[in-house]
Amino acid sequence: MPLTDKFGRAITDLRISITDRCNYKCVYCRTGNEGALYGDLPFSDYLRMARVLVGMGITKIRLTGGEPLLRKGVVEFVHNLAQLRTPNGNGCGDPVDIALTTNGHLLADLAQPLKNAGLIRVTVSMDAVDPDRFTRITRVPNGYDHVLAGIRAARRAGLWPLKVNCVLMRGFNEDQIIPFGMFAREEGVTVRFIEFMPLEEDRTWSPATVVTLDEILARMGEYRPLVEIPHARSETARRYRFDDGVGEIGIIAPVSHPFCGHCSRIRITSDGKIRTCLFSVWDHDLHAQMRRGVSDEELADFIRGVVQKKEERHHIGEPDFVPASRTMVHIGG
Ligand code: SAM
Repeated sequence: MPLTDKFGRAITDLRISITDRCNYKCVYCRTGNEGALYGDLPFSDYLRMARVLVGMGITKIRLTGGEPLLRKGVVEFVHNLAQLRTPNGNGCGDPVDIALTTNGHLLADLAQPLKNAGLIRVTVSMDAVDPDRFTRITRVPNGYDHVLAGIRAARRAGLWPLKVNCVLMRGFNEDQIIPFGMFAREEGVTVRFIEFMPLEEDRTWSPATVVTLDEILARMGEYRPLVEIPHARSETARRYRFDDGVGEIGIIAPVSHPFCGHCSRIRITSDGKIRTCLFSVWDHDLHAQMRRGVSDEELADFIRGVVQKKEERHHIGEPDFVPASRTMVHIGG
């Protein structure tokens, strides 16, 4: 029986935040201060959660945070996840698609070991191709060179597809749209622009801070014509290639073009709570169930009940919008 919510959406994608610590303080995500932490769990606990969920129909697992590469033991954890098999009826099962979202700062040395351990693909967050602007956004000195080295190491290691995510925030980096188009073509990576969502710690979001899909397309079109690539309904990004076939960009537009109707995701926070939506106003304590000593079957029953509570959609920009109970760094993007 596939894991399905009450709106008939199959839940196949799991994101696990393995820490809510981060070595960057990006302006659209965190305050400039250290901030509070919920903390993290032993890898063996995430592994049990993942094993139960793969048995219930999860086929993709993305590791995130905080910054996931800050966790010692992440390579061994990926190796253990890579041993999991989806139940496919013929007894042998398929491996899970394992992905990572990282700021890339520590990726240069870890890309090859992660690939060897079974990581399939990686998404690196990078919000400017100009080093000074990058520092202004991340509020960490000298990060740019590390991240670029991380992206190149990931490509050499064969972590593919390799995507670079850029959150656009008005007043900070909307002038980076065309430079990122050039970057996508030169580096052979897919650059995906993400609309800024109200999930930041210092509550600076307003509709005016969002650089929308239409605006991104218009700006990029001044550089080179784009051709839309058909995309699967479950894909969050709209995809485009340049007219000469060199370079691909994507746009993730949860604010101006929500895609909740095709959402296939649930998240586990670093402290072991299930979140059924980025914008949930509550979460569900899976780890508390484990501490009570329940069996895998009881854990699966708990998860099935939680999935039935998955929200139909978010309400960003609507009068009844209630901010999520956690910010992005404590959810896992
Ligand atoms: N530290 C890792 C990284 O930088 O990719 C993983 C965690 S980070 C929270 C995951 C993604 O969420 C990043 O691509 C980041 O840019 C994005 N993000 C954070 N806050 C956001 C916001 N308010 N709106 C849209 N995307 C956001």
